[in-house]
Amino acid sequence: MTHSHEKMIIIGAGAAGFTAAIYAARANLSPVVLAGLQPGGQLTITTDVENYPGFADVIQGPWLMQEMQQQAENVGTRVIYDIATAIDTSQHPIHIQLDGGDSMTADCLVIATGAQARWLGLESETIFNGRGVSACATCDGFFYKGRDVVVIGGGNTAVEEALYLSNLCNSVTLIHRRDSLRAEQILQERLFKRANLSVEWNYTVTEIVGDSTGVNAVNLQSTTDNSEKQISAHGVFIAIGHDPATKPFQKNVELDDEGYIKVKPGTTLTSAKGVFAAGDCVDKIYRQAVTAAGMGCMAALDAEKFLASLSD
Ligand code: NAP
Repeated sequence: MTHSHEKMIIIGAGAAGFTAAIYAARANLSPVVLAGLQPGGQLTITTDVENYPGFADVIQGPWLMQEMQQQAENVGTRVIYDIATAIDTSQHPIHIQLDGGDSMTADCLVIATGAQARWLGLESETIFNGRGVSACATCDGFFYKGRDVVVIGGGNTAVEEALYLSNLCNSVTLIHRRDSLRAEQILQERLFKRANLSVEWNYTVTEIVGDSTGVNAVNLQSTTDNSEKQISAHGVFIAIGHDPATKPFQKNVELDDEGYIKVKPGTTLTSAKGVFAAGDCVDKIYRQAVTAAGMGCMAALDAEKFLASLSD
């Protein structure tokens, strides 16, 4: 088992983590990225990306992440393919335990572990993922312009996604398992005013139906009387929540009720000294690659200032 000490360790190899690494490496902080076993974050399970600025033509999510990693390495980042299983911020430097048995200490830490969309768990959902099934309307809604889509869920995300899609699509049907939404009242009012938006109350999706061309319908089952029906749809947007990947840090940094890391507003400072957080493990509202990258930049700049204060 080995032990090393680093100036800065970044946990997470998505848009936030690699952007933090690019900025930190260029500030001569020799950052180490703990990339886990599947680096690249949510963009590696995305296909076409049309909304990341700087690329006039469509790019692929996995390619974008390879480029970000290469860019970070080119300016002096070291990438380690291991998982942080626990951290200890009670003493300084911060202690990090790795899954492979090694341990590390760091003068500062950036947590950029992201979040994962929750899925319904249907086999057909996996089959049509990226070919009709999506968990991000802002990312994929454009591909369903003028078509019929459904959104599943009853929270703020589901209603915001439905409203966003109603500006692009022919029709949007929100499917919710209960008879009332948990989304904020103001969002509900907007939803009920849209002419091309309707709600299927008390239904769950039992199957996503399609063929080699993609999705063409969803099968629904009533949660009140078990009756079944089918509605046609070309796009299925799952909006039933996200799980931030913050479990290893719950004893060290303050989390909100849903497990997202709390930061001082307008910064990336967490409740623990020398620990910064960026990207989807903090942000449950925007959840975009470009906003995660922006927060990664902020984390590197905040961390740099912290390190300077240590040497003072
Ligand atoms: P959420 O509030 O947890 O809502 C998830 C929704 O999905 C609920 O309506 C839930 O139904 C439904 N659901 C969960 N599992 C399901 C399943 N297996 N099958 C069918 N439906 C299922 O998640 P969210 O909307 O993503 O919001 C997460 C947090 O971010 C919240 O705190 C929210 O306020 C915040 N947020 C804020 C904004 C904003 O301020 N603009 C925007 C987006 C999100 P039930 O209602 O029956 O439980």
